[in-house]
Amino acid sequence: MQTKRVVVALGGNAILSDEASAKAQQEALSKTAKQLVHLIKKGYQLIISHGNGPQVGNLLLQQQASDSVKNPAMPLDTCVAMTQGSIGYWLQNALDKELKQAGIEKEVATIVTQVIVDEEDSAFVNPSKPIGPFLTEEQAKDEMKKSQVQFKEDAGRGWRKVVPSPQPLGIKEYKVIQTLVDNGVVTISAGGGGIPVIGETLSGVEAVIDKDFASEVLAELVDADLLIILTGVDAVAINYGKENETSLFQVTLSELEEYKAQGHFAPGSMLPKIEAAMRYVKVKPESEAIITSLEQLENIEIENVGTKIRNR
Ligand code: ADP
Ligand code: MG
Repeated sequence: MQTKRVVVALGGNAILSDEASAKAQQEALSKTAKQLVHLIKKGYQLIISHGNGPQVGNLLLQQQASDSVKNPAMPLDTCVAMTQGSIGYWLQNALDKELKQAGIEKEVATIVTQVIVDEEDSAFVNPSKPIGPFLTEEQAKDEMKKSQVQFKEDAGRGWRKVVPSPQPLGIKEYKVIQTLVDNGVVTISAGGGGIPVIGETLSGVEAVIDKDFASEVLAELVDADLLIILTGVDAVAINYGKENETSLFQVTLSELEEYKAQGHFAPGSMLPKIEAAMRYVKVKPESEAIITSLEQLENIEIENVGTKIRNR
């Protein structure tokens, strides 16, 4: 069997259910690892990426709670690196166990990943992504006087820092990832969309890269045959949440273009996945993108399982 290279992007629910303890997240990831090993057994070569929204959010809260001169809160880029490490460790550990149990000899490695963004990206002029703790209006205005950071009112829940969400342009470590993949290693990289860095000096910035977009760039760079985006639904739908909701199974670029224009995909949740999938099959017309749930991962080869996106 020809080995298929597949980038699998894990959504929030693959890591965290309702409890944020290390133990609970490790348990969630052990279920995830079982599903991922199913794919390995089928002969797929896995290049894993993942989100970190809740984890980096909680880490920022912890940082703020103990912020002092002797123990200063770490900046966002460093916090992203920290969550790449912690989630990578949990998943590496869980995959090692599952692989061993399945009698498969394979190494797993996490790569701390820097993702290159353009400092001229318009996102830096208009930060849009809310992160971290909720503040009162007064606290937020105080913070804004002290520094350049922007705060915005978030859906009646309080004021939150907003950071830019620039487009990922490249992955600093992609050759390392490629080398590992070429040698049969299961990689975990671009966690949380990667650590955003700018310029020749690769300076980390206060920004958040969408993990779906970063995973797409990763899939292009490692020349994957397949991009699988795992999320909270078995398939993408049109008229989502309405009476006439209809799941999409086989869909082409031009069909998706039309549905997108009609506003079927929610910005900030499904839309980035759709856009990532569309870009991928546009750039690599022979490849396929699949959006589905972790539970359906073992069934993706079956017709009408998951949303399968092709160029034509
Ligand atoms: P992830 O952590 O996987 O990125 P998100 O919550 O950001 O998950 O995005 C996935 C969610 O988007 C789904 O669980 C679903 O609730 C929602 N969603 C919005 N629009 C659609 C749609 N058209 N079809 C299916 N799900 C949709
Ligand atoms: Mg998301």
